[in-house]
Amino acid sequence: MKQDVLNKLISIVGKERCKTAPEDLLAYSYDASIHEFMPEAVVLPKSTEEVSRIMKLCSENKVYVTPRGAASGLGGEALAKQGGIVLSFTMMNNILEINTANRYAIVEPGVIVSDLQKAVDALNLFYPPDPGSANVATIGGTVMMNAGGMRGIKYGVTRDYLLGMEIVLPSGEIMKTGTVTVKDVTGFDLTRLICGSEGTLALATKITVRLLPKPKTKRTLLAIYDSLDDAGMTVSKIVEAGIIPATCELMDTIVMKAIEDYYHLGFPVDAAAALLIDVDGDPEVVERQAVIVGDFCKKCGARDVRVSKSDKENDDLWAARRTAFGAIARLAPQCAIEDATVPVSYLVEAIKKVIEICKKNRVRLAVLAHAGDGNLHPLMPFDGRDADEQARVEKAMDEFVEYAMTIGGTISGEHGIGMNKAKYLPQQLSPTSLRIQREIKKSFDPQGILNPGSFLEVCPL
Ligand SMILES: Cc1cc2nc3c(=O)[nH]c(=O)nc-3n(C[C@H](O)[C@H](O)[C@H](O)COP(=O)(O)OP(=O)(O)OC[C@H]3O[C@@H](n4cnc5c(N)ncnc54)[C@H](O)[C@@H]3O)c2cc1C
Repeated sequence: MKQDVLNKLISIVGKERCKTAPEDLLAYSYDASIHEFMPEAVVLPKSTEEVSRIMKLCSENKVYVTPRGAASGLGGEALAKQGGIVLSFTMMNNILEINTANRYAIVEPGVIVSDLQKAVDALNLFYPPDPGSANVATIGGTVMMNAGGMRGIKYGVTRDYLLGMEIVLPSGEIMKTGTVTVKDVTGFDLTRLICGSEGTLALATKITVRLLPKPKTKRTLLAIYDSLDDAGMTVSKIVEAGIIPATCELMDTIVMKAIEDYYHLGFPVDAAAALLIDVDGDPEVVERQAVIVGDFCKKCGARDVRVSKSDKENDDLWAARRTAFGAIARLAPQCAIEDATVPVSYLVEAIKKVIEICKKNRVRLAVLAHAGDGNLHPLMPFDGRDADEQARVEKAMDEFVEYAMTIGGTISGEHGIGMNKAKYLPQQLSPTSLRIQREIKKSFDPQGILNPGSFLEVCPL
């Protein structure tokens, strides 16, 4: 980047918030994927006006800009893949308004998801999107990835709570999308178009989200199984029976052992699998549903069902579950995380399939799933220094993704496309769909300065 552009960036945000020292750049060169790219500078804006001036300058000088939240993305989405600057939103982290009368909140993009959840909880309100990374991921990052998480089965995903945004276009123009009302039919729905766009269309500088009344009570059930198939079957049967728990997570024995190894919560490490299920709502309904779900689990083969007796017990179980990726990551230098999602009635078959594929390719496997919505997360720990092992892991992932597509699934339920899954895009999207998506990108970003090297560019067709 030319020195005069750098000087102008410094004149917008000051030297402290425009980082160029190698040790600073290094800290922004990686995310939660295996990719690494060094940016030329890292800029930390504090206001929409600063973002707008930065983008105007970058567009005039054709400098690449990669937006970044907490960098918990799993596919290199927030990395400066072709150089230029990283625009980090972590200093724009104010909750601007919580409107209890109309049940919405307006936040800056760098607010951490769990901080918003806690702030609205104190007012008896509820922000349902709950990715496993809620304690680090930002609202901006989750909007741009349309993050899912634990509560998808009952409450849906980030998109379902997004009402509107203030955005800055790559040109530097500031624009609003959406409203604060639940209903809004005014032209194309640009809010939803940008949600899940992986930071390729525009920069979110303010985000309006819908809130729900806080469920009055919650019970967490831990159903313990001697057979992984029985655990998977329970999930399909619960859904088929029309019961909608708030969460329904599946863990196999390897995940539980890894968690237990350092969380020491008393997970049943001798069991083949467990389901972690929440039911929430009014106390009478919750008590009744907890009994129905517990009975269902037993009928489907659970050897034991533990029902939490306090909020602390609920919180401990979920805190343990949230450590699953980290716990498995301790088993090997790298860990591939699959995210293919299948219709929930195929859950048992899909789990069998991934086990078979991993066995055939001699790949280690731990099975974790947001099972209630068919979102599988097979975890494959491996040593990237062993080229043969890495190639076998990649082959296993390819085979599983291809299988998921044959049964009506999707290549990604929630982690997005990023650099890892772009190769599968032409298998799921038609050439016409890809052409339209590229035209949309062009109309937002005619110079291609925002997040270059992202999924549409890496995609083979
Ligand atoms: C342990 C762990 C558990 C996880 N669990 C889940 C899960 O349950 N469900 C799930 O969906 N994901 C999960 N993820 C993935 C990840 O947390 C999500 O993709 C999350 O949405 C990323 O948020 P972030 O703030 O880290 O964004 P980043 O990774 O920093 O960025 C994500 C994308 O958003 C763009 N971006 C960020 N801020 C802005 C902005 N203000 N304007 C425009 N673009 C922006 C970036 O350019 C990038 O393309 C998990 C990851 C980890 C490491």
